[in-house]
Amino acid sequence: QDVAERIAAGEVIERPVSVIKELIENALDAGAHEIRVEMRGGGLRLMRVTDDGCGIPADELERVYQRHTTSKIRSVDDLYQLHTLGFRGEALASIATIAEVTLLSRAIETEGEGVEEPAQWVMVRGGEVVQRGRRARPHGTTITVRDLFYNVPARLNFVRQSRTENGHVVQLIRRYAVGYPAVRFNLTIDEHTVLQAGGSGDLAVVLAELYHLPLQEMLHEVRVSDGEHYIVHGYVGNRVLAQGNRQYVTLFVNGRPVQVRSLQDALEQGYRGLLTRGKHPLLVLFLEVPPDEVDVNVHPAKIEVRLVRENEIMASLTQIVRSVLERSPA
Ligand code: ADP
Ligand code: MG
Repeated sequence: QDVAERIAAGEVIERPVSVIKELIENALDAGAHEIRVEMRGGGLRLMRVTDDGCGIPADELERVYQRHTTSKIRSVDDLYQLHTLGFRGEALASIATIAEVTLLSRAIETEGEGVEEPAQWVMVRGGEVVQRGRRARPHGTTITVRDLFYNVPARLNFVRQSRTENGHVVQLIRRYAVGYPAVRFNLTIDEHTVLQAGGSGDLAVVLAELYHLPLQEMLHEVRVSDGEHYIVHGYVGNRVLAQGNRQYVTLFVNGRPVQVRSLQDALEQGYRGLLTRGKHPLLVLFLEVPPDEVDVNVHPAKIEVRLVRENEIMASLTQIVRSVLERSPA
């Protein structure tokens, strides 16, 4: 097996949470309504993501382990009209070079009248198929990842204690739960359910589930648009909710949770001087721009993006946050 492949995999998969992120995005792209995540041993022993999405047809199951296999884009032009979270066809191929991966899936078309094909599974280790079989299950996909980094000792040494890795996963799932309130998320860590949220489609309900606060009265709904190039909508929590924690600040660009320095600075600019230093308000903002005005192809994990109208949008973000917090009682 190619060393270059393992190095490439390391760029996308830095640590256990990177695997979970890729698998959740695939489940969302597959139109899942329910996503269950399981972690054991900080993710090194096992990570499993089960969805009720469209599934993968049996004859494509092996191909998705190959690099650049994606069902999501067909031409270069599609890159500028991206409506899915994935598009490079790299995640599963990468994970399969640095872990044992079992893919169990049943495509939605195999259900119903007459057709009663069972789900198929294929286990890959070191990039090679080692076992395969059939099993009954409803449509959807279950991906199980075992022994992450077993052949990349340098990465393994870099992975922190289970508690740290589990913590990252909890934060990640909170973000997606907030970003996709219509999807039910369930997280089990070492056999204990630690998070259950979403499914109703109501973001305020999700926030209450996640933060256990009587949030409704403390949230201001916002919606701002220049009428043409962008829409920003979401919630800004009032000052009572301002915590000493950046974890409560979530920004999505076209459905993707991002970490973009300039946009984060713009948000912070909005509450600078209004809150005690080091405190952050609860901010959940969704920025929607035309797909050809955002470049998501600048970072392997796609958490950074570039915007064509960055300055305009930054000013708008600052203004949105400031106007709510200025009105909010201290
Ligand atoms: P990408 O998401 O960039 O297309 P991935 O390596 O993450 O690449 O996935 C490869 C392909 O496998 C996807 O394009 C999709 O066709 C299929 N796939 C992966 N996970 C799922 C899933 N949970 N449900 C349905 N199809 C999936
Ligand atoms: Mg993907």
